Parts: sequence; C-alpha cells; structure tokens
Amino acid sequence: MAGKQTGGYHGKSDPGAQISRADATMKLARMPDGSPEIFYTLQGEGRNTGRPSVFIRSSLCNLHCRWCDTDYTWNWEGTDFVHESGRKYRREEQILDCTIEEICDEVSRFPCINYVLTGGEPLIQEKAWSDLMELLPGHFEIETNGTLLPSEPFLQRIDQINVSPKLKNSGIEASLRSKPDVLRSLAATGKADFKFVVGSAEDFDEIQTLSGSAEIPAAHIFLMPKANSVAELEANQGFVAELAQEHGLNYSDRLHLRLFGAKRGV
Ligand code: SF4
Repeated sequence: MAGKQTGGYHGKSDPGAQISRADATMKLARMPDGSPEIFYTLQGEGRNTGRPSVFIRSSLCNLHCRWCDTDYTWNWEGTDFVHESGRKYRREEQILDCTIEEICDEVSRFPCINYVLTGGEPLIQEKAWSDLMELLPGHFEIETNGTLLPSEPFLQRIDQINVSPKLKNSGIEASLRSKPDVLRSLAATGKADFKFVVGSAEDFDEIQTLSGSAEIPAAHIFLMPKANSVAELEANQGFVAELAQEHGLNYSDRLHLRLFGAKRGV
C-alpha cells in the first residue's frame, strides 16, 4: 500500500484541490489478508463480459438482498438482515479506510485502465469515487442497484453504468428497492445497461413492468441467471437464455463463476 506523498497525478491545474482529493478516504471491502479488495480480472457480466478490468470494491450497501454474493459489505453481526447463507460478518474485519492516493497507487500495479467501481452499493460514496475519477485517467464503469441517482457531474464523467435493479426475489420490500424515477433518469443518459437477476420464470413479469415504467430500451436490458455457484448457474441458464431469446433481450452470463468459482478478489 502506498505512503502518504501527494501530487504527481496528471498535471491538473489546482495543486491544492489535488492534494485534498488525494487525501479523501473511501471505505473499501477488505480481503482476509487485510488488503483492499482491488483486483485485475475479466469482467464477468453484461455488455463488457470478457473485458480485462480492474475492480475496486467499496464496502456498505443500502439494500440487503438475501442472495447477495458480497454480503461481507453489509451483513454485520448484530443486524437482523436475513441472508440465505445464515452467515454474519464482523464489521471491523471487513472494512478498510483507504485514501484516494492509496487506491491510485494500488491500481497502478495492473496493466489496465478499465476500472469497475463496485460494491456493496458504490454510490453511497459518490463523492470519493468522483475524486478518484478526477485523479485517475481511464475508462470507468460503475455497478449500482439503481436506487440512488448520482449527480450530473458524476453522470458526465462515468463511461458506463451497469444497473442491477432488485426484484421481489431479493427479499427486499418494494419501497426500498424499486425506484422507477431513478431508473428512468439513468436510462435517459444512454450510458446505462440494466441487468436483472432471474431466479424463476415468474420474475419476468416484474421485469417487464419495471422496464416499461422506467422506459428502458430492450437493447439495454440483460437477463442474468441467479447463481452463486456453477451448479446453480447451470441449473438456471437454460430458461433464462430462452426468456432472453423469446423477448429479444440480452442474456448475461456470470463468466467469473465459470472461470474462477465463487471466490473473493477474482
Ligand atoms: S444491492 Fe447488490 S450489493 Fe447490495 S445487497 Fe443487493 S446484491 Fe448485495
């Protein structure tokens, strides 16, 4: 991890603002070895599947989906959130405070400037991500649950928005997870794809209703099998692929599960 020296990022005009941005902190997910969850891999989902990418995983989420595969970003001991695994995590063991400068140093180890900002729900820390994008040149994708609308400057800077609206199958009440106005605004940017996790054919009615009310073009809708293991992926992929074909929508695989299994940091 980097030291505390500041400056040297890409010749911006206001050195004072540079230093203050570099010193800003973000709460990242923490790997078991204590390092931040920042890793170089292939994007496993959506439009850019297979694309070499550096993932930066922030901690914290404003939802608590029962099948979430990154529940170590929110499912703390002492909370009554329900997760299908039954597990809980100690908050202090799962969060790492990193400065923007330290994140810039960490990602500079990789031969890649396509960055995926993920979580948890990364938009909880929108300001810190904006600072990072200001200091780091590259292509930025964000993965969000579609409940929070970022500011206009953020929307202008981000290159690709991967929205994953949550359905009833998440176990979250509709008033928390369903924000058609936010989805409509994101769709209007032209930068957003909408990836729905499908666990059963019944989920599709809900997807159609939500997509219609948010005016999401079919070309930007991806159906992805609910899966936290290769076995579950293989069990669900057939009917989800059929649904996608039947309705002229995109199918999204979960390539990282096939290549690496259900592991952290891949
Ligand atoms: S919104 Fe995403 S990160 Fe948050 S609980 Fe649901 S699946 Fe997990």
